Amino acid sequence: MRKYFKHPIFKLIAEVVEELQVEAYVIGGFVRDRLLHRESKDIDIVVVGSGIELAERVALRLGHRAKVSVFKNFGTAMVKYKNLELEFVGARKESYRSDSRKPIVENGTLEDDQKRRDFTINALAMGLNQHNYGELVDPFNGVEDLENYIIRTPLDPDTTFSDDPLRMIRAIRFATQLGFTIEPETLESIARNRERIAIVSKERINDELNKILLSPIPSIGFLLFDETGLLEFIFPQLHKLKGVEQVGNRAHKDNFYHTLKVLDNIARNTDNLWLRWAALLHDIAKPATKAYNPQQGWTFHGHEFLGAKMVPNIFKAMKMPLNEKMKYVQKLVLLHLRPIVLSQEIVTDSAVRRLLFDAGDDIDDLMTLCEADITSANDKIVEKHLKNFQMVRQKLKEIEEKDAVRNFQPPVTGEMIMETFGLTPCKAVGDLKTILKDAILDGIIHNSYEEAYALMLEKGKEMGLTPVSEQGVGNRE
Ligand code: ATP
Repeated sequence: MRKYFKHPIFKLIAEVVEELQVEAYVIGGFVRDRLLHRESKDIDIVVVGSGIELAERVALRLGHRAKVSVFKNFGTAMVKYKNLELEFVGARKESYRSDSRKPIVENGTLEDDQKRRDFTINALAMGLNQHNYGELVDPFNGVEDLENYIIRTPLDPDTTFSDDPLRMIRAIRFATQLGFTIEPETLESIARNRERIAIVSKERINDELNKILLSPIPSIGFLLFDETGLLEFIFPQLHKLKGVEQVGNRAHKDNFYHTLKVLDNIARNTDNLWLRWAALLHDIAKPATKAYNPQQGWTFHGHEFLGAKMVPNIFKAMKMPLNEKMKYVQKLVLLHLRPIVLSQEIVTDSAVRRLLFDAGDDIDDLMTLCEADITSANDKIVEKHLKNFQMVRQKLKEIEEKDAVRNFQPPVTGEMIMETFGLTPCKAVGDLKTILKDAILDGIIHNSYEEAYALMLEKGKEMGLTPVSEQGVGNRE
């Protein structure tokens, strides 16, 4: 075991532990991650006694490069040293009431502290005292579960999950992140306790969802949410994607499984959390827009528009940030069909320019989303669509090099229009701006000040406006 804990910080802590004559252990995620050879910068130290005193002494020994923060109310202290975060906490025993995740806490033994942990693999402790330095304390066979890739609660799962229902989501998150299997009794208990998730804050659920989305194969988590019945409670819109309807022999595809395929596809090509969110939400309005008619079969007309409208509501309900990240997801959902149109029809420069203008700097991410959206089981069809998208990418590149419309700003601004015609802000200004933008994107005029100015004068006059320079002449007459 010692070989996994080579960092000199552990020797130093052990020395201070001897000085103070306390009992201390490295515990939880750090021990788990070292055994799994995973990177981990957060080190939790549990002390049978005062965590704060140990933290302060350790910080003193580390010198000016260590920063210590004490949280007296919680009996914890954090030491930041180089890229490490060490959290010191006294061993505790917890008991719960049924309406809250917040336990009643009292001082306890190491074993009490291990019992309050969520999973056997998270309850491992490693000794820091002279007599047990580097030795594992593993009362629930966590190492065996690690070796067999198993997630299991240390106590009766109904107690563990009912006490703190967030642990149900954490079980699914660890299964997804680590590629582990949830032991059958633990999994059944999640299904049994699913309604308890109501007492967990949306923010905490969202933290876990983000970790699932950032995992190598995110679908694992969503399939487990579905299997345990949690999906309906934590993500009703996604739950609604499930199911297939059939009229005669015409059925549409199951949009839940399709979405999960798109998500796994995109996870192979990007670590951008928000692009992964866009993949998860790209078809979210399909249930609400579904229709059947004998000519076309199943249609989902306008699902990209309605989907984009749903994004802020979903973000709000999940207490996610309502900032530029949300706008980015919204934009990708809105535009996700546009490159498909470009790959099917004879593509005009104008259509390509419009997409470049609408997507701006997010055009590459949009193409990544569209490529992930090809989920046919037939490799030949996938290959054909990917090839078409390669052509769309090439076309986008050519037009961008030629016309630079990606972050295009019209050469004649609203202020210029108002100044020219002596207007205050009004509808006519907006209409003229749109005419100029469309003329440039459609290739009717070049993206130049002279041509745009001339067109503004012409179209303004057609709308009955008189330039200020000509108004004076009229007045003199
Ligand atoms: P990660 O670092 O990937 O977020 P982690 O579990 O290692 O996961 P924390 O969430 O900081 O990191 O938790 C540290 C340790 O605290 C865990 O290993 C576990 O022992 C314990 N723990 C955390 N949350 C809970 C919980 N809700 N119930 C019981 N024990 C928990």
